Amino acid sequence: MSYDLVIVGAGSVGVPTALAAARRGLSTLVLDPCASPGQGDHKRAIGGVRATHSEPAKIRICLRSIRIFSEWKEREGDDLGFRKGGYLFVVYRAPDEKMLKDLLVIQKAQGLNIDWVPPEQVCDLVPGVNTTDLLGGTYSPEDINVSPLRCASAFYFAARRAGAEFRFRERVTGIKVADGKVEAVCTDKGQYATRHVLNAAGADAVEVGRFAGIELPVFPDSHEAGITEPVARLFDPLLVDIRPSPGGKNCYFYQNSENRIEFCLTPDPLVPGTNREPTSEFLPLMARRMVGILPRLASVRVRRTWRGLYPQTPDGGPIVGSAETPAGYHYAVGMCGQGFMLGPGLAEDIVSLIAEGKPVTDPEIFRSFRLDRDFGKTEKLK
Ligand SMILES: Cc1cc2nc3c(=O)[nH]c(=O)nc-3n(C[C@H](O)[C@H](O)[C@H](O)COP(=O)(O)OP(=O)(O)OC[C@H]3O[C@@H](n4cnc5c(N)ncnc54)[C@H](O)[C@@H]3O)c2cc1C
Repeated sequence: MSYDLVIVGAGSVGVPTALAAARRGLSTLVLDPCASPGQGDHKRAIGGVRATHSEPAKIRICLRSIRIFSEWKEREGDDLGFRKGGYLFVVYRAPDEKMLKDLLVIQKAQGLNIDWVPPEQVCDLVPGVNTTDLLGGTYSPEDINVSPLRCASAFYFAARRAGAEFRFRERVTGIKVADGKVEAVCTDKGQYATRHVLNAAGADAVEVGRFAGIELPVFPDSHEAGITEPVARLFDPLLVDIRPSPGGKNCYFYQNSENRIEFCLTPDPLVPGTNREPTSEFLPLMARRMVGILPRLASVRVRRTWRGLYPQTPDGGPIVGSAETPAGYHYAVGMCGQGFMLGPGLAEDIVSLIAEGKPVTDPEIFRSFRLDRDFGKTEKLK
């Protein structure tokens, strides 16, 4: 069997890329050791999608993702659990106000609809919000949230309708190279001839890079999240609190299309490694943080917590491109905490890179994702 493109990993990046590739007429095969799409870290994402980054390439790509998610129901018919609730960074400390106001300059220059809002407007957006020391916030009304579980299935079936093939319970174990070019992908079940392979293996990107002799600086770390029972609608935006607290850095939460509150906390210190077992420390920490911001959440019952991995890079930005050798080896890895929101928009860049040698995003801007960049700078809103 021979394919134009073999994608390693049916996750946040691999599935939308399969759809874009098949629609472009490339014969495409996706391989994954799990039993169905999105079973890696995709299903562990809580569904926040924002274009309000500080890095221009991420802004452009997430704007494209937002367009794709927004038009999905009309074009494809599936309900993705879409809500346009915006993002609201609530601010209680003067240095945070300055940092976020400084970022507004970059964000507005990229054409984003985002602004500083005073405390009264924060109270309108989030009735019952804690107003002690509240200084205001940055609000971007066009950011959205969608269900990662619904998206995995919708994008998967759309990719199959477009002609992409998927083989589950099949792990990629090697890549055959001849004359400096990719020749085939080997798995624990067989071998597939192809001219192009895409490493979209998320937290396992390093291993899949080494199959072709490519070192990728991707370091997974563990993050926990949870979801409550459904309750009456309390607020619309996804709230982000960037203050540190014992055991946690920033935290974010929102009320999804089923009226359940989904929440996530960046642990402090970070927990490097691949542990996906939830802890008993997370919920008390997170509950204190959320109730501190929105006291009326105190009586809402939590249904479930879980833990997953952010495939991190040293500077918080993804690594996307094509290797010089072997020719035909491409990578879209290191999505950090944003692979779900980047996936659909990035898919169009990846397919264009493979088919035409350049992304659809302005190549000058896209350069910030290069593997040979200076990883010394860190993004402000990772
Ligand atoms: C708690 C939590 C909350 C999050 N919230 C958000 C959010 O709100 N918004 C957002 O944008 N992001 C969020 N993320 C981050 C997001 O989940 C990840 O960035 C994203 O899933 C990474 O996408 P990926 O395609 O690189 O990896 P994955 O989606 O993990 O896909 C990689 C796939 O590769 C497969 N694979 C691995 N090795 C092989 C192999 N050898 N052969 C074949 N297949 C292989 C895996 O089985 C997996 O299915 C969150 C993450 C966590 C943990």
